[in-house]
Formats: sequence, C-alpha cells, structure tokens
Amino acid sequence: MPASITGLLRSDIAALEPYTPIVPLETLAERLGLPVERIIKLDANENPYGPSPHALAALAAVERDAPHRYAIYPDPDHLRLRTALSRYIGQPPERIICGAGSDELIDLLIRATLRPGDTMVDCPPTFSMYSLDAALYGARVVPVPRTDQFDVDIEGVAEAVEREGAKLLFLAAPNNPTGTPLAREDVERLLNLPIILAIDEAYAEFAGTSVVDMVGSYPNLVVLRTFSKWAGLAGLRIGYAAMHEDVAAYVWKIKQPYNVNVAAEVAAIASLDDLEERMATVARIIAERERLAAALAALPGFRVYPSAANFLLCRITGGAAHAHAIRDGLAQRGILIRYFNRPGLDDCIRISVGRPEQNDALLHALRELV
Ligand SMILES: *Cc1c(COP(=O)(O)O)cnc(C)c1O
Repeated sequence: MPASITGLLRSDIAALEPYTPIVPLETLAERLGLPVERIIKLDANENPYGPSPHALAALAAVERDAPHRYAIYPDPDHLRLRTALSRYIGQPPERIICGAGSDELIDLLIRATLRPGDTMVDCPPTFSMYSLDAALYGARVVPVPRTDQFDVDIEGVAEAVEREGAKLLFLAAPNNPTGTPLAREDVERLLNLPIILAIDEAYAEFAGTSVVDMVGSYPNLVVLRTFSKWAGLAGLRIGYAAMHEDVAAYVWKIKQPYNVNVAAEVAAIASLDDLEERMATVARIIAERERLAAALAALPGFRVYPSAANFLLCRITGGAAHAHAIRDGLAQRGILIRYFNRPGLDDCIRISVGRPEQNDALLHALRELV
C-alpha cells in the first residue's frame, strides 16, 4: 500500500492482531470432501437443534403477511421485542437495549465507558472479545488471571481496580471457554467496587441462574444476554442488555438506529413465544453435557472441567495424544471442535455439546484417536 494511504489510516490498528474468523461450513466441507450435512459442528457453542420451529414459521410468514416488510427499515426502538423480553426477564422495557448479537452490546458498552487511556480489568482465560475491543478504542487492559480452577480472583480484582483506577470489568457467567459459574455473592461483592460490572450471561439458560433481577438495585450492573446459543439464532445476530435506566440513556445515544434487522426481531419474538420448546432443547443439552462429561473423563489423559454451560473444556495431559492432534484427527473425520493454546489454556480443547448421536460419533472418534 502506498505510504500516503497508510499515513491516513490508524497506525494503532495496523499494530492489532487480526481476529481469526471461523471458516465457513461450506468451505470446510469442500476441503474435507464431505457433504455439509455430514459435518458435526461442535466448535462454536451453537444450538445443535437449530432455531425453534415457531421462529422458522414466523420468518416464512413475514413477507406473506406484511408485503415489503423486508424493504422497510426496522423499528429503531425494538418496542415489540423489548416488551416480550420484559416479560421474559422480569425487568421494565426501559432497562432493555437490543443489539446485533451481544457482541454489539459489548462494543457499545466499551464505547460508552472507556476513553483512550482509560483502564479495563480483564479476567483471562475468558472470551477474548472484551480485551480485543477495549484495545481497539485505545483503552488499557489490566489482566487479573483466574485461579487454577478458573474462578475469578475476587481479591485480585478489587486490588487491581483500586490500584489502576479501572472503570469497567466484563465477566462471562458461566465463563467461556471454561464453563465456570460465578456465585451471586461474588457478583454482589464486585458491585461494591467503583466500576461498571458487565455480567455476560450468554449461557445463563444452561446454568439456570442469573443476576438480571439485580439491575434495578445496582446502577453499575449491566447484564448481557443473547439468542445465539440457547435460542439457536447465532446466524441472525440478536442479543440484548439489561441495565439501570440511567446507564441505558447513555447507550441509547450511541446505538446505531437500525442495528437489529427485521428478521432477527421476528425470530427472537417467536422464540420467546415458544419458550417451552426452547427450554426442552436446553434440558436435552444439559442432560447430554453430563453424559458427555463422564464419558470424556474416562478417556486416557482427559481432564474435564465442571461446566454450567453448553460446552466442556478438557485439558489433554499425559501424552496419549496432543490436543492439536486430537483437533486435527477429529476434523479429518468431519467433527469440528475448538483448540486453545493460550496462557492458562495450554493443551486445551473445548467441545460444544451436540445431539446424542453427534456426541456418540465424537466419542467413537476420540476412542480411535487416544
Ligand atoms: C457466544 C458469546 C457471545 C456472543 O454472542 P452473540 O450474541 O452471538 O454476539 C458473547 N459472550 C460470550 C461469553 C459468548 O460465549
């Protein structure tokens, strides 16, 4: 690129590590020489049962019942969806903001909070979006690593917040990629610190616990939720956040008006109308999580961490096979999982819980590999 152009672009972006996106399923299938339906996708914590049938029917009906609905801009206030969400989470609509996935809400919250040079505390190993996004806005990220069991080091966080004057902390509960839950008492303790605490509850439906009821009493609490995992709508990009109305007023000012598309809003509302069916898939996934955890723990060299989410983190020890070799061997058989080799996650793989027959295929392949 000519120097004149690089001079116009931000040099701090040139220095950032590019995000490694997931390879599209069709591309992978082609590479492996397998039909797409044969791929068992256990690498992104998606719902293996897909979207609710009611949501699919609602999507199919959009243009039939309201011609040109897709040609018209969506509702910038997401009124119908926020009303439905209000019933679901038991909070008034004024405390709810919707976004194109909870990823967008992470971004909005960082922009509403951090100026260049401001400080955010991060508790790795965790979802990497928090620190990547904060770095993009020139914030300083102070890591307070989790314990060996992946619990949050509460004292360490309190000390770092005070020492560094940090303004923001994201904690995924349960944590991704470790599955570790976060106790309500710990959230309460952290809420007494002078920071905005964002509890990312992307997997709350699998954990069966939430702190969303606390947003009215703690103005510094933000709870992030998504339809990507339990509701099976990852491809439509729809999430939301609950927060005190005083904080919501700031986030509303910086939100793009048409951030949630028509199809996403329709599918999300229909999923909430079909809660019984959705929660039945969640219950099946939880039952499979327990069965899969026990079967994996019986494999040589597999240490399985306790998980309150829809995935299991395993550390591969003892040299039966290396974690990356397991990932590659499974991929050759058309089974996709996540492999990590970052600090705290050496030799780790993360397996999303699939349908029973998918988990059986995984276990069969693993027994061949180790
Ligand atoms: C998957 C995930 C998200 C992203 O959710 P989207 O709504 O799809 O953007 C956010 N946080 C955590 C911890 C996740 O695992």
